[in-house]
Amino acid sequence: ALPAPERLSAWLDGGERPPAATAAGGPLPTDPYAGRHEHYATAARWQDADPEAVIRALDEAGLQGLGGAAFPTARKWAFTRAAQGAPRTVICNADESEPGTFKDRLILEAAPHLVIEGMVMGARVIGAGHGIIYLRHEYQRARESIAAALADARGRGLLGEGFDIELFVSPGGYILGEETALLEALEDRRGEPRNKPPFPTNVGLHGGPTLINNVETLAAVTTILAHGPEWWRAQGRGGYSGLKYVSVSGDVVTPGVHCLPWGTPVREAIERCGGVMEGRGVLAFSPGGASTPFLPGSLLDTPLAFETLREAGSGLGTGALVVVAEGRDLADVLLAQARFFRNESCGKCVPCRVGSRKGVALAEAAAAGEVAPGVAEALRTLHGTLARTSICGLGQVALLPVVDALERFADEPSVQRLRGEVPWATSP
Ligand code: NAD
Ligand code: SF4
Repeated sequence: ALPAPERLSAWLDGGERPPAATAAGGPLPTDPYAGRHEHYATAARWQDADPEAVIRALDEAGLQGLGGAAFPTARKWAFTRAAQGAPRTVICNADESEPGTFKDRLILEAAPHLVIEGMVMGARVIGAGHGIIYLRHEYQRARESIAAALADARGRGLLGEGFDIELFVSPGGYILGEETALLEALEDRRGEPRNKPPFPTNVGLHGGPTLINNVETLAAVTTILAHGPEWWRAQGRGGYSGLKYVSVSGDVVTPGVHCLPWGTPVREAIERCGGVMEGRGVLAFSPGGASTPFLPGSLLDTPLAFETLREAGSGLGTGALVVVAEGRDLADVLLAQARFFRNESCGKCVPCRVGSRKGVALAEAAAAGEVAPGVAEALRTLHGTLARTSICGLGQVALLPVVDALERFADEPSVQRLRGEVPWATSP
């Protein structure tokens, strides 16, 4: 039997290395974030390094943003370094709120020093004097661990003179994690997204160049600089580079966060969590949180990587693997996602504000048995409008999982209900 998933903190903060879990495909490599990471040794070692060498190391490692969008980290750092103007700021986006995503919470609770060290390196590269950790308001334990780590870093002289980091607790709300809404909130305005471009790399906080990275990306920066880009690349499987924290939830025996080599098949991530509840099969899985479409259980051997999951018709997103077991009502899950986006729409732009409500109303009516031939086409058209005209990612994906499932799971009885093809009374 597979060992129960270990608490991430035990792996990260000097605890035992995790037992070598044996999954169907053979032994999984041990977790390289595990074991003792000597606090701030990397920042000290790279103290006098040429900033260009830091950027080169990230480029050689092939690191892409791990907050969901996969933008190449080295390019973001290079753009911000090259941008003119002031003030210059480094921001850690710790407003993790994508449904199914809880990897950053554990990293912040267990190893905030990795994130602080990554921010210190970012500040040196872009010439920032100020750093901000923008934290989700519900993350109380992370708030405490970050505060303690910041005090420790100041005590060691790593923070303070020249560069310091402030902990800012988000006023709350999903959209406040969108990087430009986050900037608005920090500038004491209503937290609504800005039009991009300009990107924050050039015009960010108070109009100055701003480096905004996700928690896991910054932790990965420290790990890459500690061990080297070749080492990072070698951690992946099947030609993929590096490591990824994946939050697994839904119908698995033990939901949890696992640090997996890129390229690990989805099936193994599920096995790491004790498999599917009650030994059932997988009806569908969403690899990247609520913004990414569900894929069928027949694709469980797809490697966890941005490219493979995009080719499969979905995306790795934040690495939030949500498993739906056979026997569960997929339409219910899809509706819950669509309602989430409707509720969280900030209302700044009309297509998202009106379209997300309209989409949910249409789908709910169909699911309630008010058979409406053509509802699938109407939802598709509505999604197309939202995707083309919404100014931020929320509106662009609000109806995507529903619309995608209408085709991909067309044979699934609950989805047929959503398509308006089966009256409620006759659906199973
Ligand atoms: P995006 O593709 O617009 O941008 C990604 C990053 O790259 C941003 O930091 C952006 O500023 C930068 N960028 C892109 N093009 C650039 C350019 N030409 N020059 C300089 N910088 C550039 O995506 P986004 O709207 O920032 O994020 C969407 C993603 O966020 C989704 O894929 C979703 O998975 C993820 N998401 C994550 C969470 C979470 O809790 N972690 C929550 C909601 C959404
Ligand atoms: Fe707000 Fe939606 Fe427009 Fe994004 S797309 S700015 S969430 S109304």
